[in-house]
Amino acid sequence: MKTSMLSGKTALVTGSTSGIGLGLARALAEQGANIVFNGFGDAQQIEKLHTDVAQEFDVQTAYHNADMSKPAEIAAMMQFAQDKFGGVDILVNNAGIQFVANVEDFPPEKWDAILAINLSSAFHTSRLALLGMKQKNWGRIINLASVHGLVGSEQKSAYVAAKHGLVGLTKVTALETAHTGITCNAICPGWVLTPLVQKQVDDRAARDKVSNEEAKKALLVEKQPSGEFVTPEELGALAVFFCSPAGNQVRGVAWNVDGGWAAQ
Ligand code: NAD
Repeated sequence: MKTSMLSGKTALVTGSTSGIGLGLARALAEQGANIVFNGFGDAQQIEKLHTDVAQEFDVQTAYHNADMSKPAEIAAMMQFAQDKFGGVDILVNNAGIQFVANVEDFPPEKWDAILAINLSSAFHTSRLALLGMKQKNWGRIINLASVHGLVGSEQKSAYVAAKHGLVGLTKVTALETAHTGITCNAICPGWVLTPLVQKQVDDRAARDKVSNEEAKKALLVEKQPSGEFVTPEELGALAVFFCSPAGNQVRGVAWNVDGGWAAQ
């Protein structure tokens, strides 16, 4: 078995059955980390997905189906990681959902769900992972925020509030661990073409009566100067950097990977 940078470490990636979370899980597995997968989807497909990653990268993987809006299920998932792998060395808080509407039309239950899944879940996983990280004096917490953790957009009140909150949680966690071998940072992507964004593309194509390709272009032109989507692989490479020795003193940053979005 070859030894890689993260051999012997365990990464738990919430919402890793799809999109960015899956990209990050793959990038960390490529560096030798064992992976605890989480997220929704078809049970058989998820089983195949995580056993394929285990085979491809010669690591151990497991899956827990905790709903990130439910603190008791989050606690059960963290205990599962403890029992299975002896704890979590790298915690990636990635699970997230989106809903768009003006504030006055925003369904309160959608607000509550977005705040619970996109923000509070990261508090619960972090509070439960930190003790073990402190005992080992090594850990990495990576919060998948968004460019919407740095700037606002219309119709995304709950999402923007949750992501700004996640950037705030990142800074406080980084300060509280500043004198240890644990770091906490946020990744703030612009548009990445995942199922979460494809839904917004589909809605736009239907609303403006244009093709899917035209809707994608319009979405990018509006916000992302590069005119290109960010990829899960690019975000995975940044997560690997945060986990590397070169990242030891990178603490509390909210690093945008956004094709220039926030530079405007
Ligand atoms: P996605 O829809 O492809 O993946 C979301 C993942 O979260 C899935 O695995 C899903 O099953 C899981 N999930 C959703 N609700 C859950 C719950 N209650 N409990 C457990 N898992 C749950 O979306 P994505 O685009 O890959 O988004 C991943 C993260 O990246 C989110 O936090 C999102 O806000 C953030 N983000 C995405 C973009 C983008 O353009 N796609 C940009 C910036 C930030």
